[in-house]
Amino acid sequence: MGFSTFLQGKTAHEALLGRQEAELRLMETMRRCLTLRAKCDREYAAALTSVSSQGLRGALEQQDLLSGSLVAQAWRSAMEEIENLGRLIRQNADQLEEEAVKQLSKLQVDKRKARKEYRDGYAKIASMFVQLSEDVSRKKGEYYKSLEAYKIARMRFEDHYVKSGRSGRKLDEVCDKYQKACRRLHLIHNEYVLLLSEVREFEHEHRTVLLPGLLDCQQTVQEASIDRWQSILLEAFRVTNFSSKKFQEIHGKMESGFEAVLPSAEYTVFLDKYKTDPISPVSFIFDQELLEGISGKLQPDVVAVDNLTIDWLRNKVVELETSLQEQQQLLKEKESILTHVKMSTPQGNTCSGGGSSQSQCAEEKSNERHPSISEGSSSSATLLSLQREVNDLKCSERKLKHLVEVIKKPLADLGCEEAPPGCDLSMSLNSLTSDILENSSEPQTPSLKGSQLLKNKLHAQRFVTLLRKPFHRKSSLPQSCLSTPMLEKRSVLRRGTCDGGRMVQDIGGGVRDLCGSEDCASNEDNLKSSLADEEWFHGCLPREEVVRLLTQDGDFLVRETIRNDERQTVLSVNWCGPKHFIVQTTPEGHFRFEGPTFPDVKELINYQFQSGLPVTARSGAILRRAIPRERWELNNDDVVLDVKIGRGNFGDVFKAHLKPDNIDVAVKTCRLTLPEEQRRKFLLEGRILKRYDHPNIVKFIGICVQKQPIMIVMELVPGGSLLTYLRNHAAFLPLKQLLQMCRDVAAGMQYLESKNCIHRDLAARNCLVGHENIVKISDFGMSREEEEYIVSDGMKQIPIKWTAPEALHFGKYTSLCDVWSYGVLAWEIFACGGVPYSGLNNTKAREKIDSGYRMPAPEGTPPELYQLMLRCWEYEPEKRPHFDEIFTIVDKVYSTL
Ligand code: ADP
Repeated sequence: MGFSTFLQGKTAHEALLGRQEAELRLMETMRRCLTLRAKCDREYAAALTSVSSQGLRGALEQQDLLSGSLVAQAWRSAMEEIENLGRLIRQNADQLEEEAVKQLSKLQVDKRKARKEYRDGYAKIASMFVQLSEDVSRKKGEYYKSLEAYKIARMRFEDHYVKSGRSGRKLDEVCDKYQKACRRLHLIHNEYVLLLSEVREFEHEHRTVLLPGLLDCQQTVQEASIDRWQSILLEAFRVTNFSSKKFQEIHGKMESGFEAVLPSAEYTVFLDKYKTDPISPVSFIFDQELLEGISGKLQPDVVAVDNLTIDWLRNKVVELETSLQEQQQLLKEKESILTHVKMSTPQGNTCSGGGSSQSQCAEEKSNERHPSISEGSSSSATLLSLQREVNDLKCSERKLKHLVEVIKKPLADLGCEEAPPGCDLSMSLNSLTSDILENSSEPQTPSLKGSQLLKNKLHAQRFVTLLRKPFHRKSSLPQSCLSTPMLEKRSVLRRGTCDGGRMVQDIGGGVRDLCGSEDCASNEDNLKSSLADEEWFHGCLPREEVVRLLTQDGDFLVRETIRNDERQTVLSVNWCGPKHFIVQTTPEGHFRFEGPTFPDVKELINYQFQSGLPVTARSGAILRRAIPRERWELNNDDVVLDVKIGRGNFGDVFKAHLKPDNIDVAVKTCRLTLPEEQRRKFLLEGRILKRYDHPNIVKFIGICVQKQPIMIVMELVPGGSLLTYLRNHAAFLPLKQLLQMCRDVAAGMQYLESKNCIHRDLAARNCLVGHENIVKISDFGMSREEEEYIVSDGMKQIPIKWTAPEALHFGKYTSLCDVWSYGVLAWEIFACGGVPYSGLNNTKAREKIDSGYRMPAPEGTPPELYQLMLRCWEYEPEKRPHFDEIFTIVDKVYSTL
């Protein structure tokens, strides 16, 4: 029972051929896959070899430090085994390809051949059967034909026989034909019978012998082929079996290497080799050299608390305290988790501590062996990691606490004291701010004569008047306390007592308190009156000025400052250097330092003064002498603004009336919105101008800093800006007047050069035209009183077309830069307000100047003046004339007209 029984039909035969074809295709697939597998294994083997050599090299590099390490030893043997593993896999891959794949190819060939034989055999048998069947049909056809011929011959014979009797030639003929036909029929009949008999025999043979024989044979061939196929595959998968004994042996060796690691013995050799004494503590010391060459404000290991750092420090404390709270919260949580884990881990405690318990823990682990990796050690690892986290958090908590302490202590020490200045600006600024009296006694330039001399005298007189004029303001401090000797105040203090935060009258002494009256209580109104009325209240006078006013220990004044948009009242006292105390405000709106509170700042100062107690315990500062405002510190209310006459960089410029002197003045205001730094810059112009007294320099009268807006009060120069004047009067300006203008500016600049003042912005727009067309130099916003000034903070807003090349290129300013600008200003005068380098933008003008170009002389310029301009525009500053020479030249030309 098999192929011969069930696969005889044509459909089965075709299915069998299809099956053989499918098997051949499967074999081809297998052959390709096994080849691929061999390739993969070879690559894997190569990768393993590389792993092994890397692993060995790595271990070799650390050989010295890892001497005696069991882990390293196990690792080395594992790497060697990996090398073996690679080798084995490579051999197997070779075997796979050499044997299995080759045999499979051969099997394919044999199978294809067997299939052909079967197909041919089957076709041969079938064709024989077909041949015989066709012979039968053909014979049958011949049979029919003979039969027909016989029937016709017989019919003819019978006809003749009947018609012509039993003789005759014709009858013989017919009879002969009849007999022949009869003979042929009989022969064919016999042939047909024989053929049928043969076919029947063949058909039986075909069905019972030939076809079954062919199929039986095929079945045998197929099954033998399957047998070979199976063996090939079995061999293929045997050689690629990674769990075979050889592989197991290799892996076994690797594992046993690691099993031999004993944690407690791991460091024995290492300890012997490298043991040292415990390390000594390292101290981090502030490098004193860092502070060499800078002012003594920065102290080693002490945070600098000053106006530059105070906000940063306060923010830092808040930031640190917030982090500290977070860390403490986290620490609390971790500690409670740790406690919980400790309670639920029986051996947990053994692994949490230091040396001995740790090694004990290691022993336990090594005894536990494998389970420790996943289960046993996971809880102790959790415990260890938690313990570490707790330690880290505690460490971080201690660090934060310490940092908070480091900052908080000096902040607490500072108390209500205003942070001292970090940058010693006062030194340089004080040099700019010497008393105006110095200037009023300034000797006149020899070249000034006539009306200018008279004007000078008038100015001097006005300043003397201002100086001598007593303050109109009432003071809540007794007159004796304003700049009085210390002894005088002491006598007042001896008799005063403090009751409930108020100074009361001494019974016998008839002593006045700071309200300046016999009865303090009856003078409540006075006390509550505006602080601005007090002579010792200096408004928002800049700190640098304040420091300059406080000369002796105990000198004090009160001022205001705006810090972070908040107005603060500050008591500035000289006590071993300037100290600034911010008046503290209680939630009830009262005022205090460290002592009692008062509803009014004046009362607080009064108390502080009368009691003779230090403002703060730390400072020890005692108030002895109230410093009144200087005469150039004008009261804002004394200045009545009139019309706007110009617009400056910091704010509008007004014509105004100065009430006490009954004169018209010009007032520069500073916009409220400007930041502190800009406000200081604004006042800088006042401070510089204050030093100068010259008919060709606009006069400074005072500053108003009692309240906002802060203002600079100057002499009113009625003709306004020279540039506008030139443009408006271009058609009517005689040469002599133009020369006079050049001479005025030269005189003013000669004066400034002698004072080492560099104007830095000399231009027609910054000069003013006064009575009798006298020109005065104004706008000292960029000026510096130095022989040479190097700009370090960028060159923003630089008047390029007026600025000398060395200042543009290197930021280097000297009076010779002003000389260059003077040349341009003289050009502007003769061009009647024309635009210099017209048609060129700043960059182009700069390029052309660098390449040697100089502006041509405006029409009508005297040749000597143009020559002078060209000398002012010498590229090398040293080749330019100084202002005394310039004045002499211009004056000479002017005098010859
Ligand atoms: P800023 O220096 O702030 O830029 P300026 O000194 O240039 O301000 O003044 C702006 C304008 O105000 C000037 O162009 C001028 O018209 C006018 N001005 C300034 N000072 C006086 C003064 N003392 N007398 C008359 N007008 C003045």
